[in-house]
Amino acid sequence: MASLVVEGVTVAFGADLALDGVGLTAEPGRVTGLIGPNGAGKSTLFDVVSGLRRPSSGRVVLGGRDVTRMGPARRARHGLARTFQRLEPFGRLSVRDNLLVAAELGPERRRAASAVAAILDRLDLTEIADSAAGTLPTGAGRLVEVGRALATRPRLLLLDEPAAGQDGEETARFAALLRSLADEGTAVVLVEHDMGLVMGVCDEVHVLDLGKVIASGPPDAIRRDEAVLAAYLGD
Ligand code: ADP
Ligand code: MG
Repeated sequence: MASLVVEGVTVAFGADLALDGVGLTAEPGRVTGLIGPNGAGKSTLFDVVSGLRRPSSGRVVLGGRDVTRMGPARRARHGLARTFQRLEPFGRLSVRDNLLVAAELGPERRRAASAVAAILDRLDLTEIADSAAGTLPTGAGRLVEVGRALATRPRLLLLDEPAAGQDGEETARFAALLRSLADEGTAVVLVEHDMGLVMGVCDEVHVLDLGKVIASGPPDAIRRDEAVLAAYLGD
């Protein structure tokens, strides 16, 4: 069963449609890319999927259950976690405490401390676990966001430009992390401008332009798709 099904989702801001009948799916065990030029509607779609914004029409189905009318906290309890394009850590809390706060919300609160230690290790954050999260360089700050999301043990993980501000080495490690999360059965949805990362790690890619899905398919097909090339060249 698909982890995420989005059907016919439309969102209007005044007279403008930020999303116009968007449909897509994300599957467990796969990294699904969501790309498109600035303003295409990627972050708005994440808001709709995570319950922060109600669509004027359409449905969101998580793990077979229609959650269109469910609030964000309940969706989180159904296994959804997301990161935000803009970094919003609890800046004065340590890296570890940022993750602990999230782990306490998750299904395994009694094991929170050891679960957090394992995630810090996995993200290579152990050495800076006691630093205030607000003092970190962007690349590490993004990993803290990802760590907070992982601490809730998501089945569906939405990542909004997680590699922005990472250097090449960080991005390569991040790609391996995404792969291993998918291999464990997580459905990962990746919004990202770094095409090397997207094409290297995604199993499937959906392309948004002006609020519409203009192409969906494996990276090789997307790379050669004329509508996609035109959208990126500002045709
Ligand atoms: P992306 O993440 O693909 O860059 P967004 O989802 O942020 O795109 O934005 C999609 C469109 O919706 C853009 O035209 C943007 O200006 C508009 N938009 C986003 N959020 C709001 C808002 N809160 N109010 C009005 N317009 C918005
Ligand atoms: Mg965005």
